Amino acid sequence: MTAPVPLIAGNWKMNGLRASLVEAAAIAEGAAGSPARVAICPPAVLIHQMSEMLAGSGVLVGGQDVHWEDAGAFTGDVSAQMLADVGAKLVILGHSERRSGHRETDEIVARKVAAALRAGLEPIVCVGETLEERNAGQASPVVTDQVRGSLPAALTGQPFSVAYEPVWAIGSGLTPSTAEIEEMHQAIRATLAERFGPAAQAVPILYGGSVKPSNAAEILHAAQVGGALVGGASLKAADFLAIVRALQA
Ligand code: PEP
Repeated sequence: MTAPVPLIAGNWKMNGLRASLVEAAAIAEGAAGSPARVAICPPAVLIHQMSEMLAGSGVLVGGQDVHWEDAGAFTGDVSAQMLADVGAKLVILGHSERRSGHRETDEIVARKVAAALRAGLEPIVCVGETLEERNAGQASPVVTDQVRGSLPAALTGQPFSVAYEPVWAIGSGLTPSTAEIEEMHQAIRATLAERFGPAAQAVPILYGGSVKPSNAAEILHAAQVGGALVGGASLKAADFLAIVRALQA
């Protein structure tokens, strides 16, 4: 089975105003011709304008969360259908900032993944261990349990990716060694194979956590790494593009 097309996605988190759309335009210009699929996941209120601006550029626009229901009395929440309606093609789900700050369990994440699929959005499902869990030798069981619990059966045959994001590496400047990344990605791949069989080989497994221009090439070329989920370094076009180009370094 052929290796998946790498995906490099920027997670803007709660950063960016309409003035930041110039960065997205610069990313689209600089990413033209990249062998990777490139995506930007801005705050929900920027998705409409950004997706119209980037239409035809090849750069995809995604959301950062959805509710698990399609519509209803959920004040302040946004549904997957709403994101798709304004041009989103992908959505980040189960990010550790949602798991910890909003008490999202694997079961909730799985319901959100199912909602994203109903709306035609491609989910990027995040998993990752805390430093305490890693130090206790539990990184692999914690992460593989998250993979089992966060991926609903409805994903069979659908495009999606998994992002391995060690919680302690996010926004900290710390990264696991290449060997540690490869070990975790291999464990995730094996867990995907339990559920999806040979089709698991086609699922991109992204690495996320303090990816920057200086470490991107090594990370992106590690075994089983199918791209990157990039937080802070995706806010500036020059840094994000340097990461996209590192794929070809
Ligand atoms: C993230 O939050 O998904 C992330 C990877 O952040 P950073 O790159 O800033 O560590």
